[in-house]
Amino acid sequence: MIPGPVEVDEAVLAEMAAQVVPHYGSEWVALYTETTDILKDIFHTKGDVFLLVSSGTGGVEAAIGSLFATNQKIIVTVNGFFGQRIATIARHRGLEVILVQSPWGEPIDPITVRTVIQDNRSAAGLVAVHHETSTGVLNPVKDIGALCKEFGLPFVVDAVSSLGGEELFMDAWGIDICITSSNKCLESLPGLAPIAVSSHAWDIIDRNKTSPNGWYLNLGVWREYAQNWADWHPYPVTMATSNVRALRVALDLFMTESLEGRIARYRDVSSFFRRGLKELGFELYVDGDYAASVMTAVRSHPQIDTTRLITALKEKDNIRIAGGLGEISGTIFRVAHMGKAGSRVDANLLLDALGRYLNKQATY
Ligand SMILES: *Cc1c(COP(=O)(O)O)cnc(C)c1O
Repeated sequence: MIPGPVEVDEAVLAEMAAQVVPHYGSEWVALYTETTDILKDIFHTKGDVFLLVSSGTGGVEAAIGSLFATNQKIIVTVNGFFGQRIATIARHRGLEVILVQSPWGEPIDPITVRTVIQDNRSAAGLVAVHHETSTGVLNPVKDIGALCKEFGLPFVVDAVSSLGGEELFMDAWGIDICITSSNKCLESLPGLAPIAVSSHAWDIIDRNKTSPNGWYLNLGVWREYAQNWADWHPYPVTMATSNVRALRVALDLFMTESLEGRIARYRDVSSFFRRGLKELGFELYVDGDYAASVMTAVRSHPQIDTTRLITALKEKDNIRIAGGLGEISGTIFRVAHMGKAGSRVDANLLLDALGRYLNKQATY
């Protein structure tokens, strides 16, 4: 029940265990293209989708490195660990970073975003996290996208822990590059970073051609191979074929459930779990309409040492939950509703265990 990697279906595991196949040839490319086509529907985009062989962060770095040129200034929203990570990546790539901040546990405020954009008219773009996985806050990327459109700023969204589990409409919300990962709401294994790129993003990438943005994570390079080697090898490097096949099986399960069905399941399980938590006397860390449903962040109970709780749950109950990250480490714990553990049955097992732990902490 940690927020990625998630527990996956046996059918996904079985596919991963099958003999390795080569990453080229028409039969293989048909499967790859089918996979990216399904993802386009999940992103709600008419843009291009690539499967980067990397973790989610590789996708974030590819977006920033491809869209922006060294020494440009960009705006980054920060209200948690993953926003901070984006700002760090941008600085490592030689960009000047202007922050729009909110306290951890609170959403980014679009009014502040407007002010910061107005004060930084030379900014080359804006990057935001959709679900800030360190806190459970769902940021208003639809409103931020509307502002980016109004001011003509390219907009990058880290939807690593939300795509497929929360509503997100890439094209309609004005998102130019959107990144996710195979091992969170898509409920497959770690290893792939699906990344979607709009035609507006390509215009900017083409204008920045002289920028030294590397090769492996350069989206221009990925597009070149998708076009020039389309029929037999539409990417510049060896594709992680087993991961793609496992993701394809996970997407079959996804389509059987439907996007709406998956979002509804996470909502149902999270509200069920949150009711139970409150009955036990726990307080939610995030409890507004900006609380994501893919994960629940809970304040540490005054009578319980959270670090010991996490260890006890793992050792006695075989349930794995996550602690806090960064500045809120030790003050919250996080329970994901993604993957196989995203069920009322599993939520109930954890609630029972938490209840037992509260009752006889000393002997647990
Ligand atoms: C998990 C996560 C990441 C990082 O993904 P990696 O696969 O560890 O590189 C980035 N952003 C968000 C919002 C995440 O939840």
